[in-house]
Amino acid sequence: MKNECSIVKDLLPLYEEKMVSAGTADFVEEHLRGCEACRKEYERVKEPPTPLPSGGKVPLMTLRRKLRIRRLQTVALTAVFVLALAVSALALLGAPIYLPYAEGLVTVGADGKEGLTLTFEEKITDFRYDFYDDPDDAGVAVCYLEIWTMPWDQWRNGGKERLSVTIPAQNKPIRLFYLPNDGGESICLARYDPEAENPLETDGETKGDIVLPRLVLGYYFLIAAAALTLAGAVWLFVRKRPKARIWVERVGLCPAAYLLSHSIVSGIRWATYSASRDLALILFLTLLLYCGFLLAQSLLYLKKEIREDNR
Ligand SMILES: [Zn+2]
Repeated sequence: MKNECSIVKDLLPLYEEKMVSAGTADFVEEHLRGCEACRKEYERVKEPPTPLPSGGKVPLMTLRRKLRIRRLQTVALTAVFVLALAVSALALLGAPIYLPYAEGLVTVGADGKEGLTLTFEEKITDFRYDFYDDPDDAGVAVCYLEIWTMPWDQWRNGGKERLSVTIPAQNKPIRLFYLPNDGGESICLARYDPEAENPLETDGETKGDIVLPRLVLGYYFLIAAAALTLAGAVWLFVRKRPKARIWVERVGLCPAAYLLSHSIVSGIRWATYSASRDLALILFLTLLLYCGFLLAQSLLYLKKEIREDNR
């Protein structure tokens, strides 16, 4: 009897659809007359199928929505990476190239009592000067001058105007040093004292301090590398748990973006003479790349979901 029940239960859907032979139909009907359990099962089969809780059309809509999101994300991802590429190119083309001191690179003059006038060779793209208080000689204002050119300007050389600047007079004499930014000593270009009989002296024999490159970016690089390693280790632990895994990836992509940005902006060098410029560019590029990485990650998971939906 038990065995017959399971056969009848298997046949019920076909019987209901009238897709069984007359003999089988007779067999099922006879069994149903004598079996309470199978009669109940037959009542259940006869009921129309309950619709899906959210309606039959929704899975298709969800898939369509997912496809649309995927298309949007792909467009956004492309835009972000094109932008990141452009920023990287600008970073490389605008990287300062410092020059060893040479005669004629800078021409120093005095503008009466107003200050020092500097005129640069055509190839100089930009300059920067900073005052420091000389701890050994409080009566003198030490001024460090940095000048540089950029790959971009080296390519489109010629037809440019010479840069010039006036360094305003201080309330004490100025000693002007040239920073070669190549690990070498700074070179004294001029001494300027508007109160003196001969305000400007440019004998240039004095050498000054060695200015060392900043290593701060190297430390940031190491911190980011450590964070990425840590995230990788955590990922190995949680990779079987989808939710945690996604979050660990999101966090880990941040140092990854930083490391990539550093490599683009500063190469693999850790030492830099233009730390603040480099850092600003690295952070901006990190932000861009991080957005790109997040988009790529989300796209990847979405693709997986769509593939699973289609199964
Ligand atoms: Zn039965």
